[in-house]
Amino acid sequence: MPRTTALIVAAGRAVRFGADLPKQYLTLAGETLLGRSARAFLDHPAVDTVRVVRQPDHDDLYRAAVAGLDLAPPIDGGATRQESCRRGLAALADQPPDLVLIHDAARPLVDAATIDRVVAALDRTPGAIAAIPVVDTLKRGSDGTSRGTVDRRDLWQAQTPQGFHYAPLCAAHARAAAEGAEATDDAAVAELAGLTVALVLGSPDNLKITTADDLSRAHRLLAMPTPDAAAASPPAPEVRVGTGFDVHRFGPGAAVWLCGVAVPHDQGLVGHSDADVGLHALTDAILGALAAGDIGQHFPPSDPRWRGCDSAVFLRHAAGMVRARGGRIAHADVTLICERPKIGPHRAAMQTRLAGLLDLSPDRVSVKATTTERLGFTGRGEGIAAQAAATLVIDAAGTG
Ligand code: MG
Repeated sequence: MPRTTALIVAAGRAVRFGADLPKQYLTLAGETLLGRSARAFLDHPAVDTVRVVRQPDHDDLYRAAVAGLDLAPPIDGGATRQESCRRGLAALADQPPDLVLIHDAARPLVDAATIDRVVAALDRTPGAIAAIPVVDTLKRGSDGTSRGTVDRRDLWQAQTPQGFHYAPLCAAHARAAAEGAEATDDAAVAELAGLTVALVLGSPDNLKITTADDLSRAHRLLAMPTPDAAAASPPAPEVRVGTGFDVHRFGPGAAVWLCGVAVPHDQGLVGHSDADVGLHALTDAILGALAAGDIGQHFPPSDPRWRGCDSAVFLRHAAGMVRARGGRIAHADVTLICERPKIGPHRAAMQTRLAGLLDLSPDRVSVKATTTERLGFTGRGEGIAAQAAATLVIDAAGTG
C-alpha cells in the first residue's frame, strides 16, 4: 500500500459574502467547511495522514475548526494558493509519502468514491484529478453580448482532490517557483513540468463554496436524506411463520366440524371440544409463530369449560394474542387430510369462516385438502388430520 498524505489547503484570506470569517471557517450543518473537508479524508481508508495548510494568524480559528480530529500538525501557508501548496509539500519532506492528495477546504462535500477514483488512477499516472465534463453550452462574451460559442466537447471542470506521486509534484512546484510561473491549481503546475494528469470523474455535489448561494446549495444537499437513510427508518417489522398439526379420530355422529363449518357426514369426530382439527392446527400455528406454547397449554382438556366448546374461541384467543404483541396475521394456510368427507364443496365456506374469525380478507386465507392415497390412519378412514401455517408481521416495537 502506498503511503498517502492528504493536504487540505485552507490558507485563503478571502472574506466572502458579508461574513466576518474566511470562508473555510464558515459553518455548514454545525461543522466548519475545513473540519468537514478534513474529516472526509481522515475517514478514508486509503489516506494515512491528513495535514492542513493554514495561515498562522488563523490559528485560533483553525484549532476550533478541527477540535477532536486526529490531524498531523498544521503547516503555515503562503500568500497564494500555489505558494501554500509548495510549502505544504516541503513540510512533508522529512518523511515523504508516496502519494499526496491536495484538496480545497472549500469543497466540504467531497465523497469517498471520488477520492477512491483519484487514488486508483495514480496506479497508472503520476497525476490524477477529480473533474466533471462541462454540460452547459459555453459562450464567449463581452459587454453583456455573446461573441461566440465555445466547443465544450473536450472541456472539463477541475475539482479537488488532485492526486500526485509526491516526488515529481515537488519537483514541478520547485520548477514553477523558479520560473515565476503562476497556476490556479496543482494540475497546472504538474502540466507545466510535463507530467501526465489523468481526469477522473468527480461529483457535481463536490461544489466549491464561493458564494452565499453555494453555501445554501450545500445545506440543501445535506438536508436531503439518502435513499438508504430513508429506508433505515422506521425499523422494518419482523415476519414470523408458525406451523401446527392436529388429528382427531372418527366416532358416532352425523357431521364433522372443519375450519368452523359443519360438514354433514356419516360419522363425527371425537374430542374434548368440537374436535375441529382445522381450527386446532391453525390455532397452534399462530401460537407457534408467537413462540407462546400450544393449544393444550392455553385450553387444557382437563378444564370442563372447554367441553364441547366451539373451537372458534381458541382461534380468536390466539389472534388476540397477536394483536396484543403489536402484530397482525398476514396469511393463514390450512390443509385437511382425509379420504372422506369430500372437502371441495365446503372449501369456500371454510375460507370465508376463517377470514371472518381472523378479521382478514379471504385472499389471505387458504384452505386445501388432500388424501393419503388410502395409506395410514387417514387412508383407512380412522380419523382426520390437519396441518396449518400462519405468517405474522410484528412491529419492531413489539419484538425483543
Ligand atoms: Mg385437537
